[in-house]
Amino acid sequence: MNDIVEKLIDLCRFYGTDYSTDTCFRTITTIKCGGKIALTVEPRRVIQACAIYSALQKYGVRHIVLGMGSNVVASEKDYDGVVLNMRRLTGCRVRGNSVVALGGTSTAAVFDALQKHSLTKGEFLGCIPATIGGAAVMNAGCYGQCMSDIVSEVLVLKEGKLTVLKNSQCNFAKRHSNLDNCLVVAVKLQLPFGDNVRQRAEEMRRAKRLSQPLNFPSAGSALYCADGKCIPSLEADKCGFKGVRLGGAKVSEKHAGFVLNVDKAMGEDIYLLVSIIKETLKKKTGSDIRTEIKFVGMP
Ligand SMILES: Cc1cc2nc3c(=O)[nH]c(=O)nc-3n(C[C@H](O)[C@H](O)[C@H](O)COP(=O)(O)OP(=O)(O)OC[C@H]3O[C@@H](n4cnc5c(N)ncnc54)[C@H](O)[C@@H]3O)c2cc1C
Repeated sequence: MNDIVEKLIDLCRFYGTDYSTDTCFRTITTIKCGGKIALTVEPRRVIQACAIYSALQKYGVRHIVLGMGSNVVASEKDYDGVVLNMRRLTGCRVRGNSVVALGGTSTAAVFDALQKHSLTKGEFLGCIPATIGGAAVMNAGCYGQCMSDIVSEVLVLKEGKLTVLKNSQCNFAKRHSNLDNCLVVAVKLQLPFGDNVRQRAEEMRRAKRLSQPLNFPSAGSALYCADGKCIPSLEADKCGFKGVRLGGAKVSEKHAGFVLNVDKAMGEDIYLLVSIIKETLKKKTGSDIRTEIKFVGMP
């Protein structure tokens, strides 16, 4: 691994790409846990991102592409791999009713652009902590809106080639797509013109503030139900999980779908608590309950 890290560092120097060998997951994920990463690369230009991603594939190096880190929980053990941190690869352009944003652009910045141009159906972007690339991968959404309704095309790097995928080629489903096996370089959205965009987003934010625990670090809602037969947070509440604590991790008293880092939690605490809730709910409901959080370095 050390040899490969050296080669990747050479590549970063050649392209003038920022990198570090002492970043921890806890500083780049919203839940604030996780150990040290062997190499973190932070491209600011498309060519830098593509060069490093191609090299990761070529050398078969263990790696993860990271957006805002709002859906990722990592182990406290050192990560013997590479994190390609996309959040500096930013830029957004609006033409008519279409918007093109680079993969690391924050959803907040994309929402600002939508608001300025009176484009509607993307108000949810104003209340989800994400990059547009991560939001596309996760088919993020809330309050009846989601990425799959507004994405027209995605520019990806896959098997060494830049390829444009149409919406229908992204396999969008509940909190899922097939974009997690490639690098999302840019996303093109198509939205209708409409009124009251800012007001609708503000209503969504208010509803979130009322229903979700935003005062402690988290990775958002931990579980989802793929067959739509139940709402995991409601089932977790019925099973008495609210307030249950394991190490520094705790199920929110406000929303049983959120597992919080309340006191220097380890990634393992979060993982274990989420796994216990998931298995309990699966047994109780018989529904297809899945983990929304992407765990890194767990069994
Ligand atoms: C307080 C809070 C509230 C939340 N509310 C919601 C909500 O209402 N609705 C909702 O859907 N989600 C919600 N989430 C979860 C999270 O914000 C979304 O899943 C979001 O889409 C993750 O985006 P990200 O950029 O942070 O991606 P990350 O968390 O960094 O990564 C998520 C996945 O995408 C991959 N990925 C990221 N960027 C790229 C890229 N450019 N190319 C290829 N793969 C990539 C990662 O490898 C990983 O598999 C919430 C989270 C928090 C902390």
